[in-house]
Amino acid sequence: MSNAIPFIKLPRINTDDTNFISDLKFIYDNTEFIGGRFVEEAEGRLADIANVKNVLCCANGTDALQILLRAINIGPKDSVIVPDLTFWATYESVVNVGATPIICDIDFATLGLDLELVEQAIKEQKISAVINVNLYGIASKNQAQLYDLCKSNGVKLICDNAQAFGVRVNGESVFKNCHGATTSFYPAKVLGCSSDGGAIFTDSDEINERCRSIANHGRKDHYTFQHVGFNSRMSNISALYLNKQINEFSDSVIRRLYAIDKYRTSLTNKILSHFQVDTSVSGNGYLSIFFLDMQKRVKLEGLLKESRIGYGRVYPETVSMQPPAKLAKSYLSGVAKRVTEEIINLPVFPGITDDEIDQIIKCVNGFKG
Ligand SMILES: *Cc1c(COP(=O)(O)O)cnc(C)c1O
Repeated sequence: MSNAIPFIKLPRINTDDTNFISDLKFIYDNTEFIGGRFVEEAEGRLADIANVKNVLCCANGTDALQILLRAINIGPKDSVIVPDLTFWATYESVVNVGATPIICDIDFATLGLDLELVEQAIKEQKISAVINVNLYGIASKNQAQLYDLCKSNGVKLICDNAQAFGVRVNGESVFKNCHGATTSFYPAKVLGCSSDGGAIFTDSDEINERCRSIANHGRKDHYTFQHVGFNSRMSNISALYLNKQINEFSDSVIRRLYAIDKYRTSLTNKILSHFQVDTSVSGNGYLSIFFLDMQKRVKLEGLLKESRIGYGRVYPETVSMQPPAKLAKSYLSGVAKRVTEEIINLPVFPGITDDEIDQIIKCVNGFKG
């Protein structure tokens, strides 16, 4: 019997360990634990890759959203649009800054916010900000259009790119075309660090300065405070590991995209459809995306389990289905719900072998529905 194939296997992700021990020793010898040279190095390199002027590393991707929302003055009395399909943290961040989330459905062609529903919500509600979420390592080709829609209505646009580091649309970084964006370095994301971690990206010096203060207790100086902030700093050890992962980032994206492309070309079973990413989008290969009829999807899960092949369902439920979101105002078309019923994600990670990919393709091609 062949070995089990995991959905993701973190120890198989290559880590560049050149000078790792001596760099670690430097941190210990200098007790440079909170912030420090590796955090600064990471911020510069992240800014280059995302093509954004300012980057601030912080404690996690959820804090990144909360700090950015606070920095653009979102709080009680503000309503913020979030998509019905995202990780729960997007919704949480709005509630945690005291604002009111308004849920909008997504568009099946892009898996991003449905612009018509966003426009309707902006007309009918007093909306202060929109959080656009680029899931699955791809992006909605409509982000520039969404930014224009927001700007012409005096609404701020921020992007939750926790799954979209390195993604581009028409050659332009998805960290552009917004007032600010965030990402997460949770170890299973496409770029991970050695603990929780996150970052905020903005071309605005003013927003960057506010974020830096809010993420560090609202400090003006060591013992004077201009905001009631958070303690959300990155450790230098996490940043050291993050820099080593940045060294591997383009190779790991190439390997992920290779696996996805093999699925696209060799997985010929017509029962599944491979999500067609718009040609303007260059993804980072975070997840593979397949859709199939719900009953068949349940059967395919059975076959994969029997064959000991890991898989994902990102996400099995919508935001609006979660009990704490029951009272939220929402603009739904049923697309997010349909995605949760029909999606399946096959294994994609940098260390996946050709043998494993072939085994998965053989198994799924043999699926009779
Ligand atoms: C992972 C994730 C987050 C939260 O990031 P953490 O670092 O786990 O706090 C937020 N939004 C999306 C879309 C995510 O995938």
